[in-house]
Amino acid sequence: MSVSSGVASLAARVDADGAGREMHRFVEELYPICRSITGEGLRATLRAIARRIPVTIREVPSGTRVLDWIVPDEWNVEDAYVLGPDGSRVIDFRRHNLHLVNYSEPVAARLPLAELKKRLFTLPDHPRWIPYRTSYYDRTWGFCLSQEDLDVLPDGDYEAVVRSSLAPGSLTYGELLLPGETEDEVLLSTHCCHPSLANDNLSGIALSTALAELLAGVRRRYSYRFLFAPGTIGAIAWLAANEAAVARVRHGLVVACVGDAGPMQYKKSRRGDAEIDRAATHVLAHAGREHRILDFTPYGYDERQYGSPGFDLPVGSLTRTPHGKFPEYHTSADDPGFVRPEALAESLRVYLDVLSVLEENRTLRNTSPKGEPQLGRRGLYRAIGGLPDPGAHALAMLWVLNLSDGRHDLLAIAERSGLAFAQIAAAAGKLVESGLLAPAAADSAPAAAVKSRDTQ
Ligand code: ZN
Repeated sequence: MSVSSGVASLAARVDADGAGREMHRFVEELYPICRSITGEGLRATLRAIARRIPVTIREVPSGTRVLDWIVPDEWNVEDAYVLGPDGSRVIDFRRHNLHLVNYSEPVAARLPLAELKKRLFTLPDHPRWIPYRTSYYDRTWGFCLSQEDLDVLPDGDYEAVVRSSLAPGSLTYGELLLPGETEDEVLLSTHCCHPSLANDNLSGIALSTALAELLAGVRRRYSYRFLFAPGTIGAIAWLAANEAAVARVRHGLVVACVGDAGPMQYKKSRRGDAEIDRAATHVLAHAGREHRILDFTPYGYDERQYGSPGFDLPVGSLTRTPHGKFPEYHTSADDPGFVRPEALAESLRVYLDVLSVLEENRTLRNTSPKGEPQLGRRGLYRAIGGLPDPGAHALAMLWVLNLSDGRHDLLAIAERSGLAFAQIAAAAGKLVESGLLAPAAADSAPAAAVKSRDTQ
């Protein structure tokens, strides 16, 4: 892959279907690992990511104060099970890691069924599924199982054993910065703390990893920062340690739930009208597929940390069906079969299209603003001959010339004209080459970036 070609040409020629199959393989590889907000499963996951992209793995010691939070003790599990009255394992962490309430403290107890039941969690509405439960900040223990398995437990005495450790250690997160032509950053953040759950978590990890691999091979106007951090506490730990980097974040996306069959959804940043909000809205509107645009809410994934008032970063969340809106969410039914390679592929395409808009968007100035410049004399009508829809391209040039008054960026011109951003950007590239457009004084981006856009 040539590094001279930019993100937009990558979006046009990527083998998204092949990438979708590869992302799905990565989901399957990571699925068996028991992850949490700290511990060896989290580290093993970050090491698997590091085998694909040069992510730096960072450790934040337990007890470290991070903003208003404190990094908890590290949690690791050796084994956990419940023995029935006949001595057999009726609940077994080794069969499925969702069976153990995540962050359970160690225990070895004999107790009758009625007492044990107070520690058991099921989903009566989905009697075959195991729920996912956590108790990060309250010390307790418990098990999760299907309602069907609970219903056949005989009366008698049970033995509950959790061989876990909760001890000072550290919280781990992964970070990769791909430097661009400017130090201005695009932040792509994914949580990586869920155990065996595929769409809610692994799909985001797989997509972020694939994006980093692809972006590493092309010319980038922006620098890209990829963050793989445990939900909430990981993002907070990163924010606490990176005030300088925070100031460079121009755009950002929280990557999550990108592998199910549902339509794409974009949740706006707290600002609501940031460039990332406009870019994602525009791309989804022109993708020709069902989609949803939601306003910011202070709930969900780590957009609520990036969008806390002390930071107010322009970070939205681009997902398919979001958290809590699919029945399989936080259950054993969110397995690799629930995640589809073709959905991962479509999500990747949309992400690349949104990043292409950010990369190509700029404010230009018409150098011949009095009357319409004569395009034919400059060969601009001929330059677009042979294209499938020359009328639309000519129209795109007229829109760009008319609105390039220094107050409209190319995305605003696309919005107002109703044309796709790629069409507006291609027209702008031709007009810059002809000298009819120049960078607006306020726009620090080099015009060369527009010129070099691949318009072949
Ligand atoms: Zn979740």
